[in-house]
Amino acid sequence: MTENEKRSATDLTNGFDTPLHVGQLNLPSVDAFEVAFKGIFARQFFTNHGPLEQELDAALASYFGVRHAVSVVNGTVALMIALQTLDLRGEVIVPAFTFPATVQAIAWAGLTPVFCDVDPHTQTITAPLAAAAITANTVAILGVHVWGRAADPDGLELLARERGLKLVFDAAHAVGCTSRGRLIGGFGDVEAFSFHATKILNGFEGGCITTNDDGLAARIRVARSFHADDDAGASILRLNAKISEAQAAMALLSLDHLDQWTEDNRHRYERYRRELQGIPGLYFIDYCAGERSNYQSVVLRICEEELGMPRDHLLRILESKNILARKYFSPGVHNIPPFCDLSTKELPVTDELCRTLIQLPTGQMVSDRHIAIVCATIRAAVSA
Ligand SMILES: *Cc1c(COP(=O)(O)O)cnc(C)c1O
Repeated sequence: MTENEKRSATDLTNGFDTPLHVGQLNLPSVDAFEVAFKGIFARQFFTNHGPLEQELDAALASYFGVRHAVSVVNGTVALMIALQTLDLRGEVIVPAFTFPATVQAIAWAGLTPVFCDVDPHTQTITAPLAAAAITANTVAILGVHVWGRAADPDGLELLARERGLKLVFDAAHAVGCTSRGRLIGGFGDVEAFSFHATKILNGFEGGCITTNDDGLAARIRVARSFHADDDAGASILRLNAKISEAQAAMALLSLDHLDQWTEDNRHRYERYRRELQGIPGLYFIDYCAGERSNYQSVVLRICEEELGMPRDHLLRILESKNILARKYFSPGVHNIPPFCDLSTKELPVTDELCRTLIQLPTGQMVSDRHIAIVCATIRAAVSA
């Protein structure tokens, strides 16, 4: 039993002494990391496309089953470069129900975000929703695979082809997830992943861009480094987006643990479901039985009337016990500056999701005992 669990030893609803956060923290052994770090010191090759970056790019391409994986410094920059190297001018259709970085990347790439509502069941954009948002200025669609569930890749690929649009996916939640049995990473023109410490594949910070387009991959590799080795990509706007050897070492070790961490996440997700079963007004986000998922997030929709209290009231009770469950995503990106200044149509489904979803803590730091405490606290709160 950890220190944090002792306080709850007698009464599961006493909460924790130190905060229990939502973000994943999946860590390889510190010994393995020390060995990798000693290698970096021995080679004195710390960044600038060192051997670990090259090993990571090859390992990621093989893992995702794509022709090219290009690792970069973080997931936001991965999206920015993916969009920038498509060489577009105009509007990009994007859900407002996403992490702010998705939309920030569009703006940094010099493009204009146009918000689109999401499907209430999948919480992602779909081809019909995106089609309705197309204007004469639309040049691309950016789908977000929320919670690791695919954003209608078949429908959007067809729509993009028919309408001559580029198709990009924010796959930050979707390492190791499938759509119709195909691994996310190979859909659309290009996909972008995050290796932030709170995601299932931890590189401290980090990200990668995956594509099967050889020309685009070559432009992406030019763009990620400010240093011109040759003038092959002379016209491409570059920036320093290199992943360091330390990040690459961490990401490589994490990749080795991915199957185990996925299995552990699934165990936690199912345990939450079991322990909260029967409470009216709590609905878990489901995962499709035929697909692979990383179970990176444990998300529930709260029905205020059935639960007998507003979502935010439940969150405050949990917070008072040091359980830092989160509203996710809230507010929607259409309601935060500077994007709230864009003229946006009504997004009723997005608004409803922002009002009703909560995310519970998971990842390697969360034990069965932690889950028992969180669930007992929720039970006590709603029956009080
Ligand atoms: C984490 C995240 C990002 C940003 O990734 P960083 O590596 O933190 O820059 C983008 N989109 C979504 C959906 C995310 O969850």
